[in-house]
Amino acid sequence: MAKLYFNYSTMNAGKSTLLLQAAYNYQERGMTTLLMIAAFDDRAGKGRIASRIGLGAEADVFTSEDNVYDHINKAREAGKVDAVLVDEAQFLTEDQAWQLARVADELRIPVMCYGLRTDFQGKLFPGSAALLALADNLKEVKTICWCGRKATMVARLDADGNIVEEGNQVEIGGNDKYVSLCRNHWSRRELG
Ligand SMILES: [Zn+2]
Repeated sequence: MAKLYFNYSTMNAGKSTLLLQAAYNYQERGMTTLLMIAAFDDRAGKGRIASRIGLGAEADVFTSEDNVYDHINKAREAGKVDAVLVDEAQFLTEDQAWQLARVADELRIPVMCYGLRTDFQGKLFPGSAALLALADNLKEVKTICWCGRKATMVARLDADGNIVEEGNQVEIGGNDKYVSLCRNHWSRRELG
């Protein structure tokens, strides 16, 4: 049976790199992948998944209004889809997470989602909360804090490098930077 996967992490752990590697592995075996990315993210330009180490690939963009099941089903009818890979999956709605579960269960296409677990205030993103509840397979993509411990939290920094405490979960077009920290140093607001 096809499964719904959720690979979660903090910022800068290399999620997009892993996604592109997984897509490459499928393509190398003659299989067809459908890449998707949330419209919120314009880091890579519209419709492109880019990793920090220079890899990139075209991707279909979805917004919170889209039915991702219908989108994938149409692509499947038009051609072959052996696997779906979704970047920035934290921006999925709960409904869309269920739609992806139906892609696995009814269309029997494996769906691999990659996203952030929590925001800069330590709260679950809606898409991540839904995927943590629904996914068949959960995997943590690990990265480390400056102290060497596993980083599980994200801090948002303003232009001067100070930690931001308040604000929207998603800052579109802002110049804020993010740093991944262990829970202890996130709680203490210690950047090293
Ligand atoms: Zn630490």
